[in-house]
Amino acid sequence: MKKKIPTTFTPPPNLTRDKKGLVIVNTGNGKGKTTAGFGVILRAWGRDMKTLVIQFIKNEKSMYGEQLAVSKLNIELITSGRGFTWTSKDLNEDEDLAQKGWNISKEKILSGDYDVILLDEITYPINYGWIDINDVLDTLKKKPDMLHVILTGRDADKRIQDCADLVTEMKEHKHPYSDQGIVAQKGIEF
Ligand code: ATP
Ligand code: MG
Repeated sequence: MKKKIPTTFTPPPNLTRDKKGLVIVNTGNGKGKTTAGFGVILRAWGRDMKTLVIQFIKNEKSMYGEQLAVSKLNIELITSGRGFTWTSKDLNEDEDLAQKGWNISKEKILSGDYDVILLDEITYPINYGWIDINDVLDTLKKKPDMLHVILTGRDADKRIQDCADLVTEMKEHKHPYSDQGIVAQKGIEF
């Protein structure tokens, strides 16, 4: 017998029609956290919503496909990182950049100027203690009602997950690098 594709979801008992800006977390070890975040940005951009991407790991000189795409689409992008920290020689500078990135993020979140903000790879500076998690939680609580904020990165802290409305964990089943040694490819990874 053919499997039926589910097209409806069972409504929860406390169904409400009220809408609100969501706190969305994409975490887990599997691939797809950043690209799913950018997928939402693209979708919102298509709706003429005001979007912003802040990247905590990638620097302004890196040439990721998503950075090129948002520049072509005129989507606002701020980078505040120097690459992955395990290749970094000056951790103090990474910490400084992360804090600057967070200060800008906080200002933008509270500004009321945006509909969707993506904080890409923010879990790392939070987990390293470079950004004060209580400040992040407090800012998310105070955010404008209709603003959606997406946070990505592995090992999202339980307190961040608890304050979110939507948490998705990407689970790795196979990865071309770990299984076949295939290195990152253009358009798929960067
Ligand atoms: P994407 O940017 O493709 O959405 P992601 O945000 O989920 O992926 P990260 O955890 O941010 O992935 O990791 C950054 C990069 O590391 C990604 O390009 C991803 O393909 C790669 N990666 C993820 N898992 C593995 C793995 N097991 N081995 C090697 N590389 C990996
Ligand atoms: Mg990522």
